Amino acid sequence: MKYLDEFSDPDLARKLLDQIHAATTQKWAMMEVCGGQTHSIIRHAIDQLLPPELELIHGPGCPVCVTPLEVIDRALAIAARPGVIFCSFGDMLRVPGSSQDLFAVKSAGGDVRVVYSPLDALRLARENPDKEVVFFGIGFETTAPANAMTVYQAERLGVHNFSLLVSHVLVPPAIAAIMESSTCRVQAFLAAGHVCSVMGTAEYPPLARKYKVPIVVTGFEPLDILEGIRRTVVQLEAGRHEMENAYPRAVRDEGNVPAMEMLRDVFAVTDRTWRGIGTIPLSGWKLAAKYREFDAEERFDVTGIRTAESGLCRSGEVLQGLIKPHECAAFGKECTPRNPLGATMVSSEGACAAYYTYRRLELVDAK
Ligand code: SF4
Repeated sequence: MKYLDEFSDPDLARKLLDQIHAATTQKWAMMEVCGGQTHSIIRHAIDQLLPPELELIHGPGCPVCVTPLEVIDRALAIAARPGVIFCSFGDMLRVPGSSQDLFAVKSAGGDVRVVYSPLDALRLARENPDKEVVFFGIGFETTAPANAMTVYQAERLGVHNFSLLVSHVLVPPAIAAIMESSTCRVQAFLAAGHVCSVMGTAEYPPLARKYKVPIVVTGFEPLDILEGIRRTVVQLEAGRHEMENAYPRAVRDEGNVPAMEMLRDVFAVTDRTWRGIGTIPLSGWKLAAKYREFDAEERFDVTGIRTAESGLCRSGEVLQGLIKPHECAAFGKECTPRNPLGATMVSSEGACAAYYTYRRLELVDAK
């Protein structure tokens, strides 16, 4: 497939791997921030081809995984109400809340629909003026522009039966929180290329300087990831800690300026709880005051729902890079993609699901 096969070329991959092996003289631990990168690393066994001194820690960048349980429970409560059409991307339907998931609500008669864009939900609202249409707007800076545009359009078109259940999270405050943690082992970051394609790179040099960590903006194909790792190792071995852009075909330093203007108009920065990690100050977006009428939490009065996490699932430790998925006792036994105990087993970007799907069950047998 043109434009993708080029970035999986085995000869070029071999050359990059040789350079990484030649450059590595000691142990280093680096975190790939994005779940898409984790998926690609495990799928292509990149971690198994690296020098044994290099450890890849799988970061918290899977949007489904870090959406807090109480937000899932609020989604379930709204979706179960009569007169509501609840719209979501498909990967949220099987994320377990405290007692059920959106599939269960749908099978019990709730009008839960999978859409491919928040604009589809807005169209449904215009076609069903007697219904309340809600879109489940979660994710990082990547999915936020489309959600912002939809709310902006709803306001402009006067579609008052549309609302957004919003739980957006931001990468730079998460990097700061990881580095401030007393258990942090991370010495460098592969930053998420698609986030930077929206937001640019300006937020990363201050983080690299403050925490003395290289931050290399990295893409998602095998050669992208190997090049990001190569550049990171070169910096670590040289004692440098700079932001580098290893994904220039998609990322410009200034980002997507019109998208950022839309985000600034529609959203306001807020404290946000990350599933498995806890509350990180100023790490998310909520709807700005002037768009509050489109806030589903306010409209359906579900802000009071509070939920405690199960004690069995260790996805919080997985998301912080403290354990690998196969080190959880439930991995591949009580917890599988068919019967997930935690969100990191549900999403295809979740580290537990990636380990399960791409043959890491053998690691359990070897324990
Ligand atoms: S394997 Fe399942 S139970 Fe264990 S951390 Fe992952 S999602 Fe949670």
